[in-house]
Amino acid sequence: MGTTRTRARARESAGASARVVDVAVLGAGIVGCLTAREITRRRPGASVLLLDRDLVGGGASLRSAGLHTPRGATPAVREMTRFSQRFYTELHRDHPALPLHPVGMRVVAASSDEPRLRSDYLAEAGLAGTGELPGGVRLPDGLSAWAVRGSHYADVAGVARALAAELRTVAEVREAVRVEAVADGCDGVALRLGTGEELTAGRVVLAPGPWLTAAAWRPLLAPLGARVKKVAALHVNRRPEPGDPAVVFEREDAFLLPLPERGHWLFSYTCQEWDPDPDRPPDGLTGHDLHEAREVLRRYAPAMADDCTSGRVFCDAYSGTGEPVVRALGGGRVVFAGAANGSGYRLAPAIAARAADLMEFERS
Ligand SMILES: Cc1cc2nc3c(=O)[nH]c(=O)nc-3n(C[C@H](O)[C@H](O)[C@H](O)COP(=O)(O)OP(=O)(O)OC[C@H]3O[C@@H](n4cnc5c(N)ncnc54)[C@H](O)[C@@H]3O)c2cc1C
Repeated sequence: MGTTRTRARARESAGASARVVDVAVLGAGIVGCLTAREITRRRPGASVLLLDRDLVGGGASLRSAGLHTPRGATPAVREMTRFSQRFYTELHRDHPALPLHPVGMRVVAASSDEPRLRSDYLAEAGLAGTGELPGGVRLPDGLSAWAVRGSHYADVAGVARALAAELRTVAEVREAVRVEAVADGCDGVALRLGTGEELTAGRVVLAPGPWLTAAAWRPLLAPLGARVKKVAALHVNRRPEPGDPAVVFEREDAFLLPLPERGHWLFSYTCQEWDPDPDRPPDGLTGHDLHEAREVLRRYAPAMADDCTSGRVFCDAYSGTGEPVVRALGGGRVVFAGAANGSGYRLAPAIAARAADLMEFERS
């Protein structure tokens, strides 16, 4: 749909006083920021509004461990991983000050898992069975360690903020502005904001992270079947050595990540608590969280397990298919982008590119 036509038609139906934009991106986490960036690059003339009820990068992105692993359990996720890896490499090359940190990686799994690992890890990751583990981490009997290339981790909120700063020259970024209603009409999508303002957007990208059940879009998102899960990681009170690699424990879907700039390691493990409310997020770690995570870590790094007394806890959106959801909803003007199953940082560039594909701009 041509942007000029969209604007004119929407203005007619919305009345002269209502503000009209070509695209509104709702949610300024890593997914929303990258999507807004992608749209402004594809359509330099379009008016783009990026809205968040909080500060940019203040949702799941703020709590993220930000690890990029060069793997995917399905062909679609591997393709998205490859895309995102290339994207982040180029972004970092062009903006070396971004808080993105290349890190070595070891993968610990049963020796018999090697064929699956070879299929899950990208060929360019160069999976090789020579992985030396960092000090304090041991290999239980029957397990092997492999080395892979191409991993990095990021301060995800820092990346989102830097992207938003750049975006401000070509788009409008509004913080502390909550979206209260989204209605897909014949001539555009009507938005009502917490500030009392009403506006019309030709297209909307919904990038709400774990806020799937916000009143503004609950009915729109219900058919997706996506759910919210608690995500927690412990901080290991131990300083990493220079060059220490991250270690992925395949069997438990857990990992150890050195964070030298924060002065500690992080241990991410899989929590199975479903449907927390992101407006009433878990109030810190529980004794159960600590116990559960330490039990897993103790198998590989007993001394580190004793050094875990704090961490980070929030929630994230899960699709139920293992693949992110990027889909046009209802009449087609609203696109949902997210539900990346705890991999929303590493897959965000590919999610953003797909969301922009679905914007279906015609040249006006
Ligand atoms: C502890 C933890 C560790 C993680 N580790 C990793 C990892 O190692 N690697 C990885 O790839 N992923 C990881 N993730 C997942 C990843 O961080 C998330 O998937 C990703 O940050 C989601 O980004 P997003 O932009 O979709 O959502 P968010 O960052 O949550 O952004 C959504 C935004 O929408 C805004 N919003 C919500 N409702 C409204 C409204 N009504 N009006 C306006 N704005 C609204 C929110 O304020 C928020 O800023 C982790 C997550 C957690 C919690």
